[in-house]
Amino acid sequence: MYSDHSVSSMYSDHSVSSMYSDHSVSSMYSDHSVSSMYSDHSMSSMYSDHAVSSMYEVSCRKVHFHGLVLAGEPCGLELRTGGMANNPQGQRLDPRRKRFFKRNIKVEGSLQKSGNRFILKFLEIYEEQITDELKTVIHGYMSEVLHSIFFLGNIHREKIMPTDFFEEKELLKLNNKFSKPFNEFCTHLPTRTPFSILLDAVVKIKGSQNETQVMEYLSTLLKELSVPKPTNMTYSNYYTLEATVICICHYERTGGGITKKFYGASLSCKGQRERQVIISLSCRHTWTLKVAYAVALAGEGGAIQLPQTVKCKAFKRNREKDHYCEEPPCTNCINIFKGATFEPCHIEADEDPNWPYGNCAETESLSKLLNADPALCEQVQVLKNNMTADLDLERNTVWSNATRKLVDLLTGTDYLRNGNDILFFVP
Ligand SMILES: [Zn+2]
Repeated sequence: MYSDHSVSSMYSDHSVSSMYSDHSVSSMYSDHSVSSMYSDHSMSSMYSDHAVSSMYEVSCRKVHFHGLVLAGEPCGLELRTGGMANNPQGQRLDPRRKRFFKRNIKVEGSLQKSGNRFILKFLEIYEEQITDELKTVIHGYMSEVLHSIFFLGNIHREKIMPTDFFEEKELLKLNNKFSKPFNEFCTHLPTRTPFSILLDAVVKIKGSQNETQVMEYLSTLLKELSVPKPTNMTYSNYYTLEATVICICHYERTGGGITKKFYGASLSCKGQRERQVIISLSCRHTWTLKVAYAVALAGEGGAIQLPQTVKCKAFKRNREKDHYCEEPPCTNCINIFKGATFEPCHIEADEDPNWPYGNCAETESLSKLLNADPALCEQVQVLKNNMTADLDLERNTVWSNATRKLVDLLTGTDYLRNGNDILFFVP
């Protein structure tokens, strides 16, 4: 999504440049980390059903699911083949796992159900592509979607394993074509939510300048994905992966010329912990430094001043009418993204939002715009309590605040190595 250059220039810090070092990758899968990944405790809490939890076995380097082999890679999910000679068609899921899947996949509004729908819809989009170029790009996005959803399953209050999202046939097909997410969902962090990836795919297919087509296609996909709304909405019974708002921004240059349009989505994951994880990892890795600064230091008077000709339009999906309606920016966005022109404009009487800084669609779209236009980015002023601040001094604060939050939120998982060494998924 962002070039290596932007990431490495964003944080010259050693730990980022060493992010993809051979050393950290080879040391990543110690026997210890794999065996500790599924401690007795996590196994039993993962599935309250005894019959299901008893079916998992942990060997020194591989996790076995009786009945089927998924992948031979460390941290991959291995499902035993139990006598290939007697089973020429290959791999079979244990009947108990099938029952577990069947029981849980029926729950409307569960992450399992929403994840299954989202992945299969994305797979359709991938399979519809005919040109080699789009096929390759969407293959990468598909891999990223799988990883992002498996990650959300892994940190979900009731842990959901990749195998729990699918029927046997779907599982084998996906693992065959996209094995990397199955191997790395519990060691590598995603860089964004599934919906942000879907949005990029739609923009790639329809073209960034065709705003109406992008939104119409998105509306159609969401209609097909939509889950009936339960009357009593809570974290556990209503986990949709849909982003409520999307934002489109562009920049009109002083000497003439307009940039292309950049799209962003609001966070499409449920749960306070999940949101904090995504915002923190985006500040550390995904968003361009000036946007990450505004979000990470918003509570301490951090903001950025953008030219007035940076134009942002946000749209909220109206579920009843199945289309997008214009949406004014919230007070958070007005506070941290100063100077930009928002259409429709902010409503002064608006109550303070109850979502965190960085949650909004404006963040992702502005980050993409600044990342794509270095000359514009250069003009953007960094502010602290309305005074000019020194970004070089703040760079480390942004990085260390984000890292500290990730360490707090992910303690006890295999996403952290040697304290704060974190790897990000690359499709
Ligand atoms: Zn906002």
